[in-house]
Amino acid sequence: MPDPSLFEARVEDLLEELSAKAPPENVQKSLRAAYLLHPEPWHGRALRDAAAGRSLSVPSEISRVDAPDGTTKLLVSLADGRAVECVLIPGVRGTESRLAMSARNREDGTGRKRRPTAAACVSSQVGCAAGCSFCASGLGGLTRNLDAGEITLQALLLRREAAARGLRLSTVVFMGMGEPLHNAANVARAVRNLTHRHAGALPPSGITVSTVGILPGMDVLAGSKSPPHLAISLHAPDDATRASIVRTAPKLWPVAETIDAAQAYRERTGRHVTVSYVLLDGVNDSQEMAVELARVLRGRAFHVNLIPHNAVDGLPFRATPPERASRFWKILREHGVVVHIRKQRGADGEAACGQLRRRTAESPPP
Ligand code: SF4
Repeated sequence: MPDPSLFEARVEDLLEELSAKAPPENVQKSLRAAYLLHPEPWHGRALRDAAAGRSLSVPSEISRVDAPDGTTKLLVSLADGRAVECVLIPGVRGTESRLAMSARNREDGTGRKRRPTAAACVSSQVGCAAGCSFCASGLGGLTRNLDAGEITLQALLLRREAAARGLRLSTVVFMGMGEPLHNAANVARAVRNLTHRHAGALPPSGITVSTVGILPGMDVLAGSKSPPHLAISLHAPDDATRASIVRTAPKLWPVAETIDAAQAYRERTGRHVTVSYVLLDGVNDSQEMAVELARVLRGRAFHVNLIPHNAVDGLPFRATPPERASRFWKILREHGVVVHIRKQRGADGEAACGQLRRRTAESPPP
């Protein structure tokens, strides 16, 4: 039986356990070093001995796709031989405020110009049970949940990758393979460990969890110690169209209930809510649907992110043509909705979620 991963443990438990054997300042410095993936993080022999039963091993890289725009998609292997995807996206600042950034700039005390930033996109499950009809990750169904350590380590690997390129990881989005809130407890623990000042030390305002709207999971996140921002994958303004796109097992909550729950999350946590909407040609991109989307979001302070669809081999969906996407955007704007069209990144690689894993599984290395 392999040692349990250090990154799977709750940071609060580790601090308590190790501080009983070594000075707390050494424990804190050592945990920060471990979360920077330093191979010898322990300050002092007593601490090294106390932590001896915790594994520091990191997932190995199976393959990568480097797109011309700087985006890198990694396929990494887990201890049981399964694989998940994670992506480094340079040039994304996320929702960290200018005030928070200048405070962080002052914190390093060097007066040096801060490095340009990057975002990490991580997976929360092997496969996915949500079954969104346009997505490669859902095609094979769910294999298993990732534990908190497996999720955390993807972000830490990408932070190391970013640092090697002179970039500072400022943002982590849970938008890779899996429905994060089908695995809410492990996702909440990973968010906590990544943002704890003695562990990952990432800014809490830089974390966003995406969900198709799993209401019990939203409750878990809202009640956690570090609630992240939320992105609700709505994809349609009415229940019938939505059910044809998002076939979440075992339950898909109605649009109105999902929006009310997102509003309650925002009020309880003070975090932002974004509505994600993948534009699918002839499915959910009509003028009437834009008007209806504006109506169901009236009075909510949610941003809308319109996402150009990445085609997946074997699936019948096409991206909405740019002029129709612009018209959809314009209608939302005219109705007072704050809306953006997401820039496509890594489009020359296996860009859609789950594509690299699928392609690698179809063509195993010799
Ligand atoms: S889009 Fe996300 S939630 Fe939907 S099937 Fe794909 S991985 Fe799962």
